[in-house]
Amino acid sequence: MIRYALACDKGHAFESWFQNSAAYDTQVKRGLVSCPMCDSTKVEKTIMAPRVSGAKKRGEAPAPQTSTEPLPLPGATSETPAPVAMVSPQEGEFRKKLKELRDHLTKNADYVGQKFPEEARKMHYGEIEHRSIFGEASPDQAKELHEEGIEFHPLPVLPEERN
Ligand SMILES: [Zn+2]
Repeated sequence: MIRYALACDKGHAFESWFQNSAAYDTQVKRGLVSCPMCDSTKVEKTIMAPRVSGAKKRGEAPAPQTSTEPLPLPGATSETPAPVAMVSPQEGEFRKKLKELRDHLTKNADYVGQKFPEEARKMHYGEIEHRSIFGEASPDQAKELHEEGIEFHPLPVLPEERN
């Protein structure tokens, strides 16, 4: 199994498990993968979570944690100084998409910071009007919100923003 972080054409982020990358391709092509928020079947991968390793092991258990180790780029020239970690062109494309998604989200939503759980709850219970917000929630808070049936999505993080 492999987990993909996906986004629909409206910028909703969500995650889904697939047997393998070929299964993902097939299911998306057939329109079997839809956005849980708007049912759009125009979905794309944003970042890949656990990578399926080249060596095929029995069972193919999912990796416990996302590996962020950069992949060696086969065609890379060692002469070019690279400001960021080595990424394959595909990953570069994902990152671009991720950035677009983030930009879209952050432009169209209010930043509420640590008040995210509170604000999300108020909206859920009709105390305030629904709007797009983003902010921070601890894993515990996120779990509570989920348990209350409040729908939200993790905001993609761009690796270079840490710098
Ligand atoms: Zn959507």
